[in-house]
Amino acid sequence: MVTKIEAGSQDSQPLQRPCKKCNNQEATLTSRTEPVCKDCFTQYIYLKCVRHIGLLGKETQGPYGSQPTRRYLLGLSLGTSSTILLHILNSYVEAALSKGRKSPLDLDIIVVDTSVSEQDEALQATLDAYRQRYPRLTFEVLPLTSVLGISSIDWTALPSLKQDQSPAQQLADLFERLPSTTSRADILRLFIRHILIHTALSRSCQAVLLGHSTTALAELTLAETAKGRGFSLPWQINDGVLPIEDFSPDPDNAPADKKRTIRVHHPLRELFRQELVTYTTLTEPPLTDIIPAEDVVNKASPVVSHRDLSIEEVVLRYFADVEVNYPSIVANVVKTTAKLDRLDAEERCGVCGMTLDELGDERWKGEIGDSGGGEEGAGSLCYGCERSVRG
Ligand SMILES: [Zn+2]
Ligand SMILES: [Zn+2]
Repeated sequence: MVTKIEAGSQDSQPLQRPCKKCNNQEATLTSRTEPVCKDCFTQYIYLKCVRHIGLLGKETQGPYGSQPTRRYLLGLSLGTSSTILLHILNSYVEAALSKGRKSPLDLDIIVVDTSVSEQDEALQATLDAYRQRYPRLTFEVLPLTSVLGISSIDWTALPSLKQDQSPAQQLADLFERLPSTTSRADILRLFIRHILIHTALSRSCQAVLLGHSTTALAELTLAETAKGRGFSLPWQINDGVLPIEDFSPDPDNAPADKKRTIRVHHPLRELFRQELVTYTTLTEPPLTDIIPAEDVVNKASPVVSHRDLSIEEVVLRYFADVEVNYPSIVANVVKTTAKLDRLDAEERCGVCGMTLDELGDERWKGEIGDSGGGEEGAGSLCYGCERSVRG
């Protein structure tokens, strides 16, 4: 883990505590038990990410000779991880451009605005800071209402929308009718994911990139298991190609290729949250200058109340402690999931889009408790989504 070491006195020529990697500079940080210098630490974070992007680049290579520029969609939450992902990918592209090569990839940077009614001024101010910092890049904001009607969601399985209302009202109303804070946080996360995937598909991007650290993926693993979606973990946590279901009611309007797929990757998956937090203070100028304080953005009329704790928040607090004292536990949670097979199934859940496990979902119901009394006739949902939607 990363901890700052008191800088040694500058007067002596031989290094007091030489960096274990370059042996050339004073170590001011500890990276995974080794004393390292600032340059080696930032290089380590950069290379972990760039190596992943290199591998993804091979997997998304066009046919021989065609060599089109790769196009990826980056989901920017304006938090620490996704900002670092953006920063590193920008440096990676600029390094290529400065050598006179063509850009190895194009990025569609998407921010989903989760405040449903009024203009969020904090979000605008934050985006201005990002645009100033990365003038070459384009930052797009999509409203949460753009989820309405997306065909990868089975809308018949959700509380019905009131057609006489505005899209923002429809959405606010839908969230109000969900049974708990945990369900609202859960459905919000899934809606953001659907918007990113839908946008990537409609623009022929080859992958959706998400900023999750090892710690974030471990948290997601535990939260999803607690909600009864353990079966879908390999689809949510691991990297690779994801089939996207089409639930459009009118098959004539559906795209010809019913079986759409998209890659979802987490290039920071081998880094701990605390390492990323340290990295934000080491770039020049520091990324902490632009990353907004938590809860500043999307404070205006959020669809999810920040007052009550959802399962995600409980797990987040838990892992903040575990990561510091037992980092290997956090890494092992994710590594274990990586060993699980992605079992495919005929049917997919209408809300999260993950495979349904008929037997498994029955098992969850038995072990977690009440069956929730799901309405007959509505689309098939996994146990986790059924609880989120119907209580
Ligand atoms: Zn060094
Ligand atoms: Zn589901």
